[in-house]
Amino acid sequence: MSLDFRKIRKDFPILDQQVHGKPLVYLDNAATTQKPQVVLDKVEEFYLKTNANIHRGAHFMANETTEAFEEARETVRQYINAGERSEIIFTHGTTESVNLVAFSFGEAFVSEGDEIVVSELEHHANIVPWQLLCERKKATLKVLPFDENGVLKIDELDGLLSERTRLVAMNHVSNTLGTINPVDKIVEIAHKRNIPVLLDGAQGIAHYPPDVQKLDCDFYVFSGHKIYGPTGIGVLYGKRKWLDQMPPFMGGGEMISEVKFSGTTFNELPYKFEPGTPNYIGAVALGTAIDYVQSLGVDNLAVREQELLNLATAKLKSIEGLRIFGEAENKVGVISFEIEGIHSFDLGTLLDQLGVAVRTGRMCTDPIMDHFGVPGMTRASFAFYNTEEEVEALYKALIRIKGMF
Ligand code: PMP
Repeated sequence: MSLDFRKIRKDFPILDQQVHGKPLVYLDNAATTQKPQVVLDKVEEFYLKTNANIHRGAHFMANETTEAFEEARETVRQYINAGERSEIIFTHGTTESVNLVAFSFGEAFVSEGDEIVVSELEHHANIVPWQLLCERKKATLKVLPFDENGVLKIDELDGLLSERTRLVAMNHVSNTLGTINPVDKIVEIAHKRNIPVLLDGAQGIAHYPPDVQKLDCDFYVFSGHKIYGPTGIGVLYGKRKWLDQMPPFMGGGEMISEVKFSGTTFNELPYKFEPGTPNYIGAVALGTAIDYVQSLGVDNLAVREQELLNLATAKLKSIEGLRIFGEAENKVGVISFEIEGIHSFDLGTLLDQLGVAVRTGRMCTDPIMDHFGVPGMTRASFAFYNTEEEVEALYKALIRIKGMF
């Protein structure tokens, strides 16, 4: 199917505006994606017509909301092909999902002297929760390095695993270098030793949704806002066999079966891990966002992003003194770079003055900055609604800024 991306772009009203008197060129999609009108409409419609707290009321609106919330769970289940709806836990985002597993899996399965393996390519959200766990349990964090192209040294993974390894936690796609990691190999290597694997899908979910049953990963986590959905909603997929054995992460209403001062019993999955009032409107709108990308065809969107990536890579490479970090063969539409003699913060600020929105700094990946020995980078990240003209605008803006130094 060939799509009319110019027409599709109109689904995103926020893109049609000026900043500093220049047309907005939004190239910060890896930080968060913009929302199509259908998602915005869903949020408004829900607050206007249906809003009521879920699971609590005997009344019509409470039932409607509960049903919509559970339908959204089913949409997520289908999108990643989880075996059961109860294996889909709604959280507030990737960060909370990783923390939930680090705490709860950690309580059940990690003890002194055990090991957790992450990679050098991780976002802080997939490092710090494991460091906290290791500190709490006197366990050790081990790190799989990446090479100069930003590709994980997968051949070294098996050597890092031991009898004491309790979990491998790695990202599906790097937010800084765009590298698509060989998640099937990671799972295969770890599973040979019966070690479970958590995949941070924050950057993978919009481009390459996993079939979690086929991939056989034990946990897959992501945020709604990276896939054209709202902020404040996220997902933890976990295999029932683990989730059943893990203690609750947070206590409160709805996650219980019965509360007595002599002792409390907990609710079944997924509610055991969903205390308090969840972000049910966020969940419903995430369901709408997933329906939206599926209606366009996720594969079509990935192809479009590759076109923009290839064009932008060629353009940026033609700029003298510009260095691109991470040139994996398999990468998403993310380009992190520096221009000799220009601090990334200055570059970002000047690009902003020209209407071009990019991210600068360390991108929550200090180890990647340390690897390359740089204080920060500038990152342009593309979504399917970006255009060739916007790539050109980035290129021209960079040439102009270079001329100022
Ligand atoms: N992991 C990766 C790879 C990410 O890109 C991000 C967001 N930048 C996160 C984790 C954290 O996601 P959130 O802030 O939505 O919890």
